[in-house]
Amino acid sequence: MITLPVTGAERKSRKFLDISHYDHAGNYHLLPFRFVALRNGREVLVNEIGDFLIVDKGTARRIINRKLDPFEDSELYADLIANFFISQTRVPALLEVIATRYRTKKSFLDHFTALHIFVITLRCEHTCHYCQVSRVSEDKDTFDMGRTHIDKGIELMMRSSNPHVTMEFQGGEALLAFDQIMYAVQRASAESQKIGKQISFVICTNLAPLKKEMLDFCLKYKIIISTSLDGPEFLHNKNRHKKRNDSYQLAISGIRKCREILGNDAVSALTTTSTLSLDYPHEIVGEYINLGFNSIFLRPISPFGFAVKNDRKNKYDTDRFLEFYKKGLDLIIEHNLNGNFFREDYASIILKKILSPFPVGYVDLQSPAGMINNVIVFNYDGYIYASDEARMLAEMKDYTFQLGHLDTAGYEDIFYGEKAFSFAESSVNESLPGCSDCAFQTYCGSDPVLNHSTQGNLIGHRPTSVFCQKNMGIISHLFELIDSDERILKIFNNWIEN
Ligand code: SF4
Repeated sequence: MITLPVTGAERKSRKFLDISHYDHAGNYHLLPFRFVALRNGREVLVNEIGDFLIVDKGTARRIINRKLDPFEDSELYADLIANFFISQTRVPALLEVIATRYRTKKSFLDHFTALHIFVITLRCEHTCHYCQVSRVSEDKDTFDMGRTHIDKGIELMMRSSNPHVTMEFQGGEALLAFDQIMYAVQRASAESQKIGKQISFVICTNLAPLKKEMLDFCLKYKIIISTSLDGPEFLHNKNRHKKRNDSYQLAISGIRKCREILGNDAVSALTTTSTLSLDYPHEIVGEYINLGFNSIFLRPISPFGFAVKNDRKNKYDTDRFLEFYKKGLDLIIEHNLNGNFFREDYASIILKKILSPFPVGYVDLQSPAGMINNVIVFNYDGYIYASDEARMLAEMKDYTFQLGHLDTAGYEDIFYGEKAFSFAESSVNESLPGCSDCAFQTYCGSDPVLNHSTQGNLIGHRPTSVFCQKNMGIISHLFELIDSDERILKIFNNWIEN
């Protein structure tokens, strides 16, 4: 590079500008942000794109009352500008950056419905007391999904504008209708190849009816297995009732066989927290660690369908769940602090929203809500539902979220029909009362099906909502942990990167 000599006449003055140029005290512009107090005496500020700052209590008030001084509060002032909380100009210089970040956060909407759930049978050989659907005994073939309906479901799935769809088989116990699964997988694979669409397959199963031939088929078509494991044997068998009381042993031997043939990453497990489970957070987490899983999803019982019929075993206050969740999370963090990798999945979903600019494709925590936009359910009898919970409601004769039938409904009727349209307004937490000014709005979601089921209308009432109480409790707790120890923040970052 050639440097030209600068003559005295050309040299620009480097004198400081007049003091008034730097005097922005109270002279800044507020950008949209929300805030909430934490229990540790601090408060968290969150802007429209999910960036956050944890600051001393009273800071939000000072910012809003224009009491910040760029000199005295220079570090905070710089952070607020750099993170788009305030601006020195009426229109922030980096407005385009904010817009791009916002589009990225919402980019889960770009491709529309990904998850297509096929309830392949309602038959089941378990009688779990928290089962959300009605199950029927093993021998009733009339409760399997017919091939005409499988074909129609696949046809609709191929019409999704999403280049990568997931076909998930649920039950009842899905493996009891393995012939139908084989037919569906082969047919969907052939159809997706014709149009160049990527497809992933998942079977949700308790693994009790598992056979070697099934796993060979799963290997050939790269099918992922999602199973249920509620904790140690005594707890699992109490929750997941089966005639010979051998549900746990069958699940464990099934997990081993899946790992042997499909590989460790091809099988995952989910817990369901019954009232009994609440007393055993450490035992449940310990079971997953001992079995070599690298994560656990601590989730409460969904208050839908038949699950809520058994109040004694399944109904508990959200406070009790939060206490259970925090104890489990504490143990998981301690395990990580001791040099091991083990993740809690619900926290990881929320942390990815907090700590990264990317969206998360988790249907239960989205705005607009995941129903229809990200998930659709084709039931064994041909009826179509807006989400898995919606079909559970239908089992209780509540058809609010039924979108039509595979025999008669076209793609546009289902996905852009009047019913789908009528759910849209209550699907966006940015405009829901309570959520619209909540600091955690960007990290949370909306759940009109849950609102309808528990509160009698799609909009819901946040102060008494179990969805809100759970998410508010968990998100605040995560912020308090982030603020408490830098090592925990490192662990959290590690969770979302792996
Ligand atoms: S549901 Fe509750 S925690 Fe979630 S955004 Fe709405 S008010 Fe906030």
